[in-house]
Amino acid sequence: MIKIYNTLTQQKEIFKPIEENKVKMYVCGPTVYNYIHIGNARPIIVFDVVRRYFEYAGYDITYVSNFTDVDDKIIKASKEEQISPKELTDKYIEAFYEDYDALGCQRADQNPRVSDYITEIIEFIQKLIKEEFAYESNGDVYFRTRKKEDYGKLSKQSIDDLISGARIEVGEDKEDPLDFALWKKAKPGEISWDSPFGEGRPGWHIECSVMANETLGQTIDIHAGGQDLTFPHHENEIAQSECHNHATFSNYWMHNGFINIDGTKMSKSLGNFTLLKDIRATVYPMIIRLFMLSVHYRTPINFSSETIELAKTNYAKIKVAYENLLFRLNNDMLEPILNNDIVTKVNDNIAYLETQLNDDFNTANALTGWYDLVKITNVYTEQNSVNKETLELLKSGFDTYIKVLGINLISNNSVDDLDIDSLIAEREEARKNRDFALADKIRDDLKAQGIILEDTKQGVRWKRI
Ligand SMILES: [Zn+2]
Repeated sequence: MIKIYNTLTQQKEIFKPIEENKVKMYVCGPTVYNYIHIGNARPIIVFDVVRRYFEYAGYDITYVSNFTDVDDKIIKASKEEQISPKELTDKYIEAFYEDYDALGCQRADQNPRVSDYITEIIEFIQKLIKEEFAYESNGDVYFRTRKKEDYGKLSKQSIDDLISGARIEVGEDKEDPLDFALWKKAKPGEISWDSPFGEGRPGWHIECSVMANETLGQTIDIHAGGQDLTFPHHENEIAQSECHNHATFSNYWMHNGFINIDGTKMSKSLGNFTLLKDIRATVYPMIIRLFMLSVHYRTPINFSSETIELAKTNYAKIKVAYENLLFRLNNDMLEPILNNDIVTKVNDNIAYLETQLNDDFNTANALTGWYDLVKITNVYTEQNSVNKETLELLKSGFDTYIKVLGINLISNNSVDDLDIDSLIAEREEARKNRDFALADKIRDDLKAQGIILEDTKQGVRWKRI
């Protein structure tokens, strides 16, 4: 039973899908005018874990995340880079996938782009105008916010609260300051499309309503995004979609918390930058992923040298335990009897993992479970004789965490595991031939690359430092 904190009701609710065992999920994606920064990486990672856990729990999930490729920032950046908006967005979409794949995130089932949905957007707006939820005004089209009686239900604001903050910008001809643009009249030199309302382009909010409608249908299970999108973006999406479809837009709304960047401290070792591609140059992406999951997704997270160092240490701890486990599995296992104490511990440990993720995807506690499994494993793999089935059970425990949290433990170093194994064999051969100079050289070369060899009763074991 999975519980989700629903921003709409401000409480944890038991997840009930629209269709049995299926999940339709839409996550607001980036505006592709630049490389993504560390803040963008948070929703990407946390909602990837949400998706993975639904899959683990036996759901068939359809995951859609858009690219906003029509926007003022894109127009501005394409002028600066002296390339067309299409060239600009293609470039940054490709860069996005590089970051995304490096972080170990599963590609979305669909990544719709606004520019591919202009016809559908125009039709959607026409229906809203026909039903008087929207109106044309000097080439712009606005949504009549007051016609949506429960407007403000997601961000918990009343119309009266909102009216005090609303204002009409120069050049806007709105009936009410609360009204927002569905279609914007083209300015000279801007990218635009022909429409029944005149040359122009869609407003920001309308795109997600239309693309969610087109890819997932009128009512979806989960709509997700950063907390900063709650208002006005998601509030306006609800207004447009619910007036257009006369149906609930999304049953659950999930929002991730902010990321604070401790720039001053960060500059010491990580450099004072926040673009993910730059951070990736010095921090292995799986460590970034572990860092992001070390705090519950709704809680603010602090990105600094210290928090990244801690993630590095924890990652190394898990990786070394896993490598030792694999090492023991590949060598003599003298103990014939399954260790029942370990069986109980592993089963309890996986039950704990599930309990934590069922509780609104508490990845911070799930990681604590993984560290406990590391301790259990370390004690067992230090024993002189070990049992194969027991080791395999421990390994399956690790593999569950790897799958659900998406933190892989595959080598990230220049020397891969097979090379190390063959170098160790070469060193053994040298020692047998009493060529100690060569044996020492191999050991020292490996050490220079962060690989430590340990001579144990079970043979040579290696670990990364
Ligand atoms: Zn959106």
